[in-house]
Amino acid sequence: MIRAALLLGCALCLPAAAPPLTFIPVQPKFAAGTSDYEAIWRTDGARIVRALEATSGLEFPQVPIDVIVSDGRPMASYDGRLIRLRASYSPAYKKATLVHELGHRLSFVLGRRDGLDDHRLLYLFLYDAWSDLYGRDYAEQMSRIERRLPGEYDAAWTWALSQTREERQARLRALRENRP
Ligand SMILES: [Zn+2]
Repeated sequence: MIRAALLLGCALCLPAAAPPLTFIPVQPKFAAGTSDYEAIWRTDGARIVRALEATSGLEFPQVPIDVIVSDGRPMASYDGRLIRLRASYSPAYKKATLVHELGHRLSFVLGRRDGLDDHRLLYLFLYDAWSDLYGRDYAEQMSRIERRLPGEYDAAWTWALSQTREERQARLRALRENRP
C-alpha cells in the first residue's frame, strides 16, 4: 500500500536531471489536453530532456516549471518558470510543442544570442532534437507545420536548415564558449 502510494506520488518524477513540471489546466475544459501533455512527459520526458541537452550542449536548471494548458498561443517565459501549451493540438504536434517550448526554456540559459531572435536560437538544435527523438521524417513534418504559423517561423526555419547539423553545432559552441 505504502509503496503504491509512493509510486503514485512520484508519477511525474523522472530519473534524468529533468526540471520538475506541474501541468495545470486553465479551465476544466482543458483537463483532457492537460492529461495528454502529462502522459507525454511521463513517457518521454527523460528522453526529451536528454535529447535537448545533447543537441544544445546546455543543462536544464532544476527550477520548477508551471505548464499551463489553455487555448492560448504556446510560449515560454524568459524567467524560465512558465510554459503555456495549447490543449487542442494533434498528438504528434503536442509532443513537438512540448519539446519546442522546453527548448526555448533551455536556450535562455545561454544568456547571450549574438543578435539571433528566439526562434533562430532555438532552431540551432530543435530540428536535431526532434530527429533524435522521433526520426527525421517527424522533424521534417513538424518544421513544415511551424513554417505555416504567422510571423518569423518560416524565415527562421529556412535560416537554420540552410546550415548543416555540424554548422549549427559550431554556432552553438561559439555561443556557449562566450557566455557572460
Ligand atoms: Zn517558439
